[in-house]
Amino acid sequence: DGQIVVSGLTKQYKNLRAVDDLSFAVRPGRVTGFLGPNGAGKTTTLRMLLNLVTPTSGSATIDGRRYADLTDPLRHVGAVLEASSAHKGRTGINHLRVICAAAGLPRGRADEVLELVGLTPAAKRKFKGYSLGMKQRLGIAAAMLGDPRVLILDEPANGLDPEGIRWMRGFLKGLAAQGRTVLVSSHLLSEMQLLADDVVIIAAGKLVRQGPVEQVMSSM
Ligand code: ADP
Ligand code: ADP
Repeated sequence: DGQIVVSGLTKQYKNLRAVDDLSFAVRPGRVTGFLGPNGAGKTTTLRMLLNLVTPTSGSATIDGRRYADLTDPLRHVGAVLEASSAHKGRTGINHLRVICAAAGLPRGRADEVLELVGLTPAAKRKFKGYSLGMKQRLGIAAAMLGDPRVLILDEPANGLDPEGIRWMRGFLKGLAAQGRTVLVSSHLLSEMQLLADDVVIIAAGKLVRQGPVEQVMSSM
């Protein structure tokens, strides 16, 4: 459970092949880094996994199903796609309660996930006063509302200070240790060396290498 499989995945935009016959698998219980330079096709791939972008060909599945075909997707997959945005005047806790209400989750779940990401002290502060690191944590808290087995994050360490990156590392490794699947993209090799157990490296939409991080790094 929690297996991600990308198979022959391709996305063609006019004359640009953003993702080109890409195949890889992601295992539960590990943090998998999805590494490649800007423009390599990481976001497009993650968006195809979440059925936000339609593949030209190939498939991207979670536990053998397309995201759109999962029963109870919120409990299955959490996604953090860009710096979290909330209504500026809303507090962190209210932002999460609104999502709970819309998704039919118990209201108390908002307090639990805020605690999980260490934002309880800022629960009643307004979103507009949050630092980038706090906004990122709020986005992660929202993704954790459904207690998903799979967490997908697009460049979550972007713009974080070293303390924020340390927190992110501990948090993601903790989720993996619970047996969850964690797929996290970055364009920085140094970040992946800190965060990831396994890496999938792409360039120009194509797979370059995949495997345990120390094995892949020693062969480069
Ligand atoms: P990464 O996340 O690795 O930076 P992206 O997946 O965002 O890469 O982009 C891959 C390539 O596809 C880039 O050249 C980007 O400009 C292009 N691209 C992404 N989305 C679109 C789109 N909707 N229409 C046209 N080109 C796109
Ligand atoms: P969707 O098709 O799911 O509505 P879009 O194609 O509008 O999504 O955009 C997908 C992502 O790619 C967005 O983050 C958007 O900012 C980016 N994007 C859209 N068009 C381009 C483009 N021509 N070049 C690079 N990135 C693009």
